[in-house]
Amino acid sequence: MFNKVLIANRGEIALRVLRACKELGISTVAVHSTADADAMHVRLADESVCIGPPKAADSYLNIPSIVSACEITGAEAVHPGYGFLSENARFADILAAHEIAFIGPSADHIRNMGDKIEAKETVERLGIPVVPGSKGAIAGEGEAARIADEIGYRVLVKAAAGGGGRGMKVAETASDLSSAFSTARAEAKSAFGDDAMYIEKYLGSPRHIEIQVLGDGQGNAVHLGERDCSLQRRHQKVWEEAQSPALNDQQRSEIGETVSKAMADLGYSGVGTIEFLYENGEFYFIEMNTRLQVEHPVPEAITGIDLVVEQLRVASGSPLSMKQDDIEFSGHAIECRINAENPSTFAPSPGRITYYHPPG
Ligand code: ADP
Repeated sequence: MFNKVLIANRGEIALRVLRACKELGISTVAVHSTADADAMHVRLADESVCIGPPKAADSYLNIPSIVSACEITGAEAVHPGYGFLSENARFADILAAHEIAFIGPSADHIRNMGDKIEAKETVERLGIPVVPGSKGAIAGEGEAARIADEIGYRVLVKAAAGGGGRGMKVAETASDLSSAFSTARAEAKSAFGDDAMYIEKYLGSPRHIEIQVLGDGQGNAVHLGERDCSLQRRHQKVWEEAQSPALNDQQRSEIGETVSKAMADLGYSGVGTIEFLYENGEFYFIEMNTRLQVEHPVPEAITGIDLVVEQLRVASGSPLSMKQDDIEFSGHAIECRINAENPSTFAPSPGRITYYHPPG
C-alpha cells in the first residue's frame, strides 16, 4: 500500500478521499489555490501545498504544479477525485513518466473510453450491446442523411467528445437533420474543441441504467449492481437509485456479468461505470465513465463496499479482495441532486442560501 497520497481536488470529494486514506493509515497531501488556503480539505490533510491562483486552470488543472507538489512532499500516488484531471489521459501519462501512480485506470483506457465513438467500438468487440447507429465518425451532412435513412428516424446526432448533455441534438425527421447536425457540431466544436460526430437511433422512452464496476487490471473484475438514473433534467441526472425498480435479479446478474467479464478481458483497473439505455427489456451501451462518480455512495450503501478504499488498493498493485459471490445487495439507496434555476428563464441560478436546517 502507498505511504503518502496527494489529492488533486477540493471540496467534498477531497474529504471523501482523505477519509479513506486515514482509514488505511496513508498520509495525505492536500493541494489548494490561494483562494482555498483555509478550506476544510486543507485543514484536515497531513500536509498541504499551494498550487496556484484561484482560477482552476492555473491551480487544480495545473499539471506541472501538481507534479512539483508530489516531488516536494514525496507523495507516491495521486487521487484525482472527479472532475478536474480525473479523466485526463495526458495527466496519467505525465505522472507515469515521473513514477507517480495515478489512482485510476491506465492512460490508454481513459483515452479510449473518452472518445465515445472508440468506446462504442471497443465495448461492442467485448460483447456489450450498443445503440444502433453509425460506425465511426461521420464526414458530413450527406453521410449523416444516408445513415439516418438506414437506421430510421428519430435519430440523435452526438459528439464523440460530448459530455454534460452538450453536443447532442435530436432529428425528428429528415428535414430536421441538417440543422440538428450543424447545431450539435458547432456546440461540440466550441465546448470540446473537437467536432467528430456520430449518429444513434433515438430511443423513445428509455430508462438510464448504469453498472458500477471494479477491476484490478490483473484479469479480475466485479460489478456492484446498477444505478437507475432515469429521472433527468436536460439529459442530466437528478435522481440516482439502487436497485432499479425495473430489473429483476436475473436481469441484474446477466447484465452485471456481461459487463464485469468485458472489463476483466479489457484488463481494466479501478472503478468505472458503464452507462446503458434500457428499453423493452434490452440494454444499449451509451458511454463509459473511467472515474469515481459523484453518485458512488449509492452502490456503497447497498453493498457495504468502500469504493475509494478499493481504488487505493488496486492502484497500489493488490488484486481484488472480493469475488462476485461475496457481494450481497441489501436495502435501497437514493441520491438526489439539487438544481436551482431561475423560475422564469430556467437558467441555472444558485441564489442565496439564507437558512439551512440539516435533517436528523
Ligand atoms: P453525456 O455524456 O453528455 O451525459 P450521454 O451519452 O451519457 O451524454 O447521454 C446522456 C443522456 O442523454 C442519457 O441518459 C439519455 O437520457 C439521453 N440519450 C443519450 N443517447 C440517447 C439515445 N440514443 N436515445 C435516447 N436518449 C439518449
